[in-house]
Amino acid sequence: MKVVLENLTKIFPSRNKKSNEEVVAVNDFTFTIPDGKLIGLLGPSGCGKSTTLYMICGLQKATSGKIYFGDDDVTDLSPENRGVGLVFQNYALYPHMTVKQNIIFPLQNLKGADKLSKEVMLERAYNAAKLVQIDNLMDRKPSELSGGQQQRVAIARALVKMPRVLLLDEPLSNLDARLRLQTREEIRRIQRETKITTVFVTHDQEEAMSISDMIVVMKQGVIQQIGAPQDVYDSPKNLFVAKFLGTPPINVFKGEVRDGKLYIGDDAVLDVPDVQNGEVHVGIRPEGFVPDDNGPFCCMLKSVEVMGRDVSIISTNDASANPLVRSIVNAEHKVDMTARTVRFTLKRNKVFIFEKESEERIFFEV
Ligand code: ADP
Ligand code: MG
Repeated sequence: MKVVLENLTKIFPSRNKKSNEEVVAVNDFTFTIPDGKLIGLLGPSGCGKSTTLYMICGLQKATSGKIYFGDDDVTDLSPENRGVGLVFQNYALYPHMTVKQNIIFPLQNLKGADKLSKEVMLERAYNAAKLVQIDNLMDRKPSELSGGQQQRVAIARALVKMPRVLLLDEPLSNLDARLRLQTREEIRRIQRETKITTVFVTHDQEEAMSISDMIVVMKQGVIQQIGAPQDVYDSPKNLFVAKFLGTPPINVFKGEVRDGKLYIGDDAVLDVPDVQNGEVHVGIRPEGFVPDDNGPFCCMLKSVEVMGRDVSIISTNDASANPLVRSIVNAEHKVDMTARTVRFTLKRNKVFIFEKESEERIFFEV
């Protein structure tokens, strides 16, 4: 099922009666979610991810804009009639019910023509449970399950209705690191098997990057960039997106373009003949540094950490926006740890320039 969001906007009225400061939680959100894909909706806390999700499922009414499932306009449809499955961060299982009863619960509420026989309900519940691999736990109570298992029950409960769209709101946030990794692989597998159009909300860029067919990066209610995770990482449209994606994060410097050269401090680090003069922000991915005794970019060496295949060089630079500059280089590069400075050549395709005021990307020939 393709999902179309058209100029979707949500404005919350002011909570404080004296002020008129309303909150524009989602601002003119337009995006088509292709059928059968997993979309990662990504952004910092408070940027409007949950609100977007709740408008898709109908728990929040859009202030303006339209929502279509396929060709159906569902904008004014109630949540029950949209055919969505929703999973929250806190699994919200009924503690007094068994796993089986929890999964069957949404089916028991079906009325009229949709009403199902007991046998069909059970069969569906077992199918959903098998999909998330908890069919051996059906008679347990939620308190007898681990966090990861509880979240699987919540996912099974969302799947049992055979939803047209599956919506997951930070579903892994309550799990410990190992389970988080395992469960996100599970969600990817389940999504591939069921081919249900899925929106996965998270503030964790690594999580979104690892499982999404496409990511949508949001900031303050506004879409910043949409694309395949690798494409967005390789070609961020603005400084916000560049900083939001990547571990370790991108290194940002104050820079200036003069006569076709990009300067960081006094170092002319890159030739950019097609860029106009002016002050800029320079973003350099950690993997964009190549140690080179004759390289143009000089930093003060702080430490070198060897991590198997890679070496992480920690340095400082007066123009750096962060206290430390982190670069990751191949272990074959020998770095003199006793030296005071380290020099680099930069990989052109790992260096991004952004306009000083707007922070929009300035493109140059790579
Ligand atoms: P996210 O899920 O990305 O953390 P939300 O969608 O929950 O962000 O919130 C977006 C913005 O809308 C925030 O500024 C939040 O405070 C505000 N907001 C969310 N829900 C409400 C509400 N029911 N009433 C008023 N403001 C709200
Ligand atoms: Mg949220």
